[in-house]
Amino acid sequence: MRLFAGIPIVDEARREIVALLAHLRERDWPVRWVREEGLHLTLKFFGEVAPERLEVIEEAVRFAAQGTGALALGLDQLGAFPSAARPRVLWLGIAGPSALELLQDRLERGGEAIGFPPEGTPFQPHVTLGRVREGHRLPPRALDDFEEQYARVPFVGTRLVLYESVLTTGGPRYDSRLTLELTA
Ligand code: ATP
Ligand code: MG
Repeated sequence: MRLFAGIPIVDEARREIVALLAHLRERDWPVRWVREEGLHLTLKFFGEVAPERLEVIEEAVRFAAQGTGALALGLDQLGAFPSAARPRVLWLGIAGPSALELLQDRLERGGEAIGFPPEGTPFQPHVTLGRVREGHRLPPRALDDFEEQYARVPFVGTRLVLYESVLTTGGPRYDSRLTLELTA
């Protein structure tokens, strides 16, 4: 099974992203846009794991989340990986307090303790919007035109979810395997 931990994006922030996605789709770019149902901020990607490991991963996620209260987050700038000049993964940045970085770091180190290598790259909190199709490209800074097309909606992250990513022919579906309330 394929697992990752993240914060679901709900309510007004989610509606704003759904509206932005609708604007983006109008461009007919060679992009696979994400499904509207599963919008989330990934904090730790565990990848493909044997189902027997689910319990120990759940335990690590519970432990990492201990002491974390609700997080004041906000929609931020658009961006792309590997860079705005060569967009492949299109995303919307998420602004957050140091407690968000701390939670991500605790998940990273908790994962490391049970055998998951840490990400080599700095944490860049984001919601993935779409991926440029293999063999295609977008113009550099393609997203620049869209910075005025959405509001920097503030929102509260109140849950940490361990998701199972189920790959289907229609793209991945994200099922919650564990939901923790951030209530410290
Ligand atoms: P697909 O891989 O089919 O395009 P997806 O990337 O949405 O779809 P997953 O690969 O299962 O589905 O990824 C689940 C979540 O984990 C997504 O938010 C994705 O961006 C993130 N993710 C995937 N691979 C990594 C990775 N190597 N490092 C960090 N995050 C990752
Ligand atoms: Mg992927």
